[in-house]
Amino acid sequence: MSASPHESRGIPLHTKILGGLLVGAVVGVICNLTLGGTHPFVVGTNKYVAGPIGAIFLNLLFMIVVPLVFASIALGVAGLGDLKRVGRIGAKTLGFFLVTTALSVTVGLVMVQIFRPGTRITPEVRTQLLETYAGDAATRMQAAEQSTFGIQTVVNIVTRNPLKSAVDLDLLGIIFFGIVFGAALTLIAADRAKIMTGVLQALNDIVLKIVDFAMMIAPYGVAGLVFGVTSRFGLALLKPLAVYIIVVLLSLLVHTVVNYSFLLRVFVGMSPLAFFSRVRAPIITAFSTSSSSGTLPTSIACAEQKLGVPPQIAGFVLPLGATMNMNGTSLFEGVTVLFLAQVFGVSLSLGDQAIVMVMCVITAIGAAGVPGGSLPLLIGILAMFGVPGEGIALILGVDRILDMARTTVNVTGDLVATTFIAKSEKVWDPKVLPAV
Ligand code: ASP
Repeated sequence: MSASPHESRGIPLHTKILGGLLVGAVVGVICNLTLGGTHPFVVGTNKYVAGPIGAIFLNLLFMIVVPLVFASIALGVAGLGDLKRVGRIGAKTLGFFLVTTALSVTVGLVMVQIFRPGTRITPEVRTQLLETYAGDAATRMQAAEQSTFGIQTVVNIVTRNPLKSAVDLDLLGIIFFGIVFGAALTLIAADRAKIMTGVLQALNDIVLKIVDFAMMIAPYGVAGLVFGVTSRFGLALLKPLAVYIIVVLLSLLVHTVVNYSFLLRVFVGMSPLAFFSRVRAPIITAFSTSSSSGTLPTSIACAEQKLGVPPQIAGFVLPLGATMNMNGTSLFEGVTVLFLAQVFGVSLSLGDQAIVMVMCVITAIGAAGVPGGSLPLLIGILAMFGVPGEGIALILGVDRILDMARTTVNVTGDLVATTFIAKSEKVWDPKVLPAV
């Protein structure tokens, strides 16, 4: 973010946000361990203090997602100028998304085969978890039935009503409208196009300024959101599923540290350390909000201001990434399908696992960038392989923690993709980074 009034007081904003994250997590865990998640003090704090602050922060970010996606995509497409170039960059971006998503599922599948967390769950724990989360699982399964992912999903991308897409936060519809709008903008008379471009530019600048406002309360919002999770769930929940959780987190870490660092070094030519230290704000935002869509404003601001990626590339690649590129989600889905198959004694051949991989890639593209957005699709994959959909109940209790981690990887992957595209288009030089 550009220097905010907070930074002038000495402590950099990202340090404050990190501080908020730690304070929220530590105080939450302490409250949970000493008082318990249902103690009136914990419930009251969540209801009247931590919850509202977290929600206001989230609302501020969501408030600008629609105008930002529309303005940045339309400007991005118009800024790229010729439509052939838009097509080429679009194809390259989707190709990069597919390759990195497949890579991340592979990491997850290999790790789950090595550690076999599903074989370590005792039947008692299984029954207990299934009973506790049965109700929640039933609701999720209903949602899964409604969210069929097929040809209609593709047809619906061509939105009939952009305003309805905006109201429903149907980002793919808005992205499509933005692309068509930007493309048409390059084809009309120059004097009129100039007016519209100016308006879009101003809209874009305004929403990015609102991101600055949101980031001012980010330290408190992040603390509130993280407190909400840790105070309610504590650590006890993690114990019976410890190996499964470790496999998911370790795989996410391997994908981030090994694969992203490799891509950054070899294909982008940027030091991974420099990259990660510059993208702290979106990483922390993704972790605390569990929402790629909610993090999008912060990612766009960071890519432009901290990495120096040209707005037309960041504005084009990042909205697409927030909706379609979910490396962390696909990895999580792969691990979870195999984990639950192990728990329920469903054996999956190598061929089945290859199909699991393809399904994880496809559903990660289709998952909405909101907390728990992938769960309905995950239930769909489970059903395909004869693993009871209720099995999702086993992991629901810990899903929020895993969601925080996978969303962080999802957003990091989008930012890596943005640098890759900018570099390959020769419009950005990783050696010339903005001063921070
Ligand atoms: N929360 C994830 C995201 O927004 C989606 C998911 O995996 O549930 O990226």
